[in-house]
Amino acid sequence: MRLWENTIRRVTPYVPGEQPKGENLVKLNTNENPYPPAPGVIKALKEFNTDGLRKYPDPAASVLTEALAEYYGLKEDQIFVGVGSDDVIAMAFMTFFNSQKPIRFPEVTYSFYKVWAELFKIPYETPALREDFTIDPADYHGNTGGIIFPNPNAPTGVYMPLDQVEEILRNNQDAVVMVDEAYIDFAGPSALSLLDRYENLLVIQTFSKSRSLAGLRIGFAMGHPDLIRALNDVKYSYNSYTMNLPSQILGAEAVKDRAYFEKRVKQIVASRERAKKRLAKLGFTFPDSQANFIFVTHRKAGAEGIFQALKEKQIYVRYFKTPGLNNSLRITIGTDEEMDRLFEELERIIKEV
Ligand SMILES: *Cc1c(COP(=O)(O)O)cnc(C)c1O
Repeated sequence: MRLWENTIRRVTPYVPGEQPKGENLVKLNTNENPYPPAPGVIKALKEFNTDGLRKYPDPAASVLTEALAEYYGLKEDQIFVGVGSDDVIAMAFMTFFNSQKPIRFPEVTYSFYKVWAELFKIPYETPALREDFTIDPADYHGNTGGIIFPNPNAPTGVYMPLDQVEEILRNNQDAVVMVDEAYIDFAGPSALSLLDRYENLLVIQTFSKSRSLAGLRIGFAMGHPDLIRALNDVKYSYNSYTMNLPSQILGAEAVKDRAYFEKRVKQIVASRERAKKRLAKLGFTFPDSQANFIFVTHRKAGAEGIFQALKEKQIYVRYFKTPGLNNSLRITIGTDEEMDRLFEELERIIKEV
């Protein structure tokens, strides 16, 4: 009898995309940025004073929060930083989703939300997307324990215009509404402009996609100082030193170089628009992505077959076995050279079907 087994917290973990090793592979499966981090990041890393590692890092990560406050025109007490936005969102679920009412997020979305809800035993509801993959704001009106959705949504890439984001906020003033803006830099305006009017809004962003720093693990939330204080109280009750010193210093360097950031984002958006044309010609359909990936379905060829055939050629895209998603592929936008290699292989694979 192993009675202790009955008291284990059972969870079905989130399954991240593969991180294959090897040379000459084209990695388009986890929405990383194909370009290197800003030159200031590389310089700061080379000049990094390792003596600083003897000491605990600043628990408030002030160099980083200051740089972010300056960049976004906010006060430092409106910003919370964490170890990737996954850490920030998990902390925010723990902090804000404590009513008995179910929280709400889309049925097709970032699959981690469901995992956190289960982990923290938060009830949840998942309204379906519309036929065209858009979120219907009317599904998010009132009487919830809280709301979270990505904008643009994942894995669809569909962006929700700000007036609809505001519609959701207007109809949910009694619960915290989180907008996960992991891909916002590739899309339209951010919900940041709504912070002044909605004290219950938390906007969450990450350095992993648009800022080329998935490896450093930096995410942040922006919102009313009372929300940020509540987040910090939970964080300090859990682990005060979540963010390491190199991440704080290098993250701040990344934020300071606005020109480099904007240049890379522009390049990726241009490659995305070019990819849409090629993929349509190859017989794929897809919602109009405003992110750094495209969620494609082929008119004839099955997604799993394409996925395997690409993998044999060392090209990795993301395939979800989930019902409803299992005839589509999520393709991250790489450099134009990487995308050309993808198109070439796709052309060959599809001809054989
Ligand atoms: C990538 C992603 C995140 C997590 O990013 P971090 O690397 O943990 O900062 C969060 N939400 C969505 C929708 C994402 O795609």
